Formats: sequence, structure tokens, C-alpha cells
Amino acid sequence: MASATEARRFVVATFNRHKAAELHALLALPGVTLVPLADWPGATPPEEHGATLLENARLKARAAVLLTGLPAIADDTGLEVDAINGAPGVHAARYSGPDATYASNVAKLLRELNGVPPERRGARFRTVCAVAWPDGVELSADGALQGVITEVPRGENGFGYDPVFMPAGETRTVAELTDAEKNVISHRAKAARLLGALLAKL
Ligand code: IMP
Repeated sequence: MASATEARRFVVATFNRHKAAELHALLALPGVTLVPLADWPGATPPEEHGATLLENARLKARAAVLLTGLPAIADDTGLEVDAINGAPGVHAARYSGPDATYASNVAKLLRELNGVPPERRGARFRTVCAVAWPDGVELSADGALQGVITEVPRGENGFGYDPVFMPAGETRTVAELTDAEKNVISHRAKAARLLGALLAKL
């Protein structure tokens, strides 16, 4: 049986330092300590072979529970671009191949959308956040951010596709927003806040 202190410690199951920082800011709950999985001895990123964001978030959370014995929180994000039938979708991380970088993924996306007019460049980020406990119980929550893919990358903040994603109603890309501004509107913020509200009720 876990002690009261252990019950309020959660592992954050990501090796991406940008996501870890965002999740730490978003999941700041009174009385809850978040432990980065990357600090755990022997921790390695699991294969993300799920067919959906929920499957990937659950498998990342479950793998972290198995390793640490602590409840774990994980997220998975996809980018759906309407003009290319929802690609890259759940495959956002490896869109341009096994050695993909953020820059090569953005370059491929802009190539695929070459000549597509602004009104047909609609897209959304989707995030699923999942929490898994050692006894098998799980919870999840999701969030989305609607916007358009710009024709050229702009901005230095954030990561991934942020330099080419302009949220609906904005004139700046996500990479031109401050971290605090991103954390108000982002797909991950919405999912994490919802999950945080569910956790706060427990
Ligand atoms: P993950 O599977 O949740 O790590 O996300 C898959 C990929 O989506 C990442 O490698 C990034 O390229 C992209 N991504 C995830 N979150 C964001 C974000 O907040 N902004 C921009 N790109 C993101």
C-alpha cells in the first residue's frame, strides 16, 4: 500500500524537455510532486507504436509506472492538416522519416502544402494526457488548438511545428508567443488542465 506521500508523487513520462517544462507549469497542483522520468536511472523512451494518441499516451504512462512503481502522467500530440487528409496525425514526430528533426518535419509539411491557398491550410493540434496508477486505474483528458499552417516558419519559441502554426484569431505563430501565452491556449494546456481538474477531485 502506497504511503500518503507516495500517492501524491507522479512521474512525468516524457524525455522532451520542452514538453516536460510545459507539463510541469500546467500540472502545478497543491501537494503534488512531479518527478521527471528522464531523471530516473535506467529510463529510456518507449516505442510509440500506438495507432491513436490515447494508445500512445497510455503506453508511455504504463511503461513509466512499470519502471518506477509510481503513478505516471504522459501525453501524446498529433497535428492534423486538412489539405493532406489529416496528416501527419499521430505520426507527427517521424513525419519526414526515422531520422526526422523538427526542421525536416516542418520542411516536409511546407513542401506538401506548396501552392495550397491560405483558406485551405486549416489544421489542429490534438493532445491526449493520460495518467496511470500502479493498480491499473487510468484517466485521460484531451485538448485541441485550431489554426492554420503558415507559408513560412516564424518565431524562435516553443518546438516542433510551432513556427508554422498560427492559432485561429492570432496574427503570430505559436513560436512567436511567449511560453506563458502558449500555456494559456495550447492543446497540451487544455488537456493538462482538464486532467489536473480530474486529479484535484481524487
Ligand atoms: P509527441 O508524440 O507528443 O512527442 O509529439 C509528436 C510530435 O508532435 C513532436 O515530435 C513535435 O514535432 C510535435 N509536437 C508535439 N507537441 C507540440 C507542440 O506543442 N507544438 C508543436 N509541435 C508539437
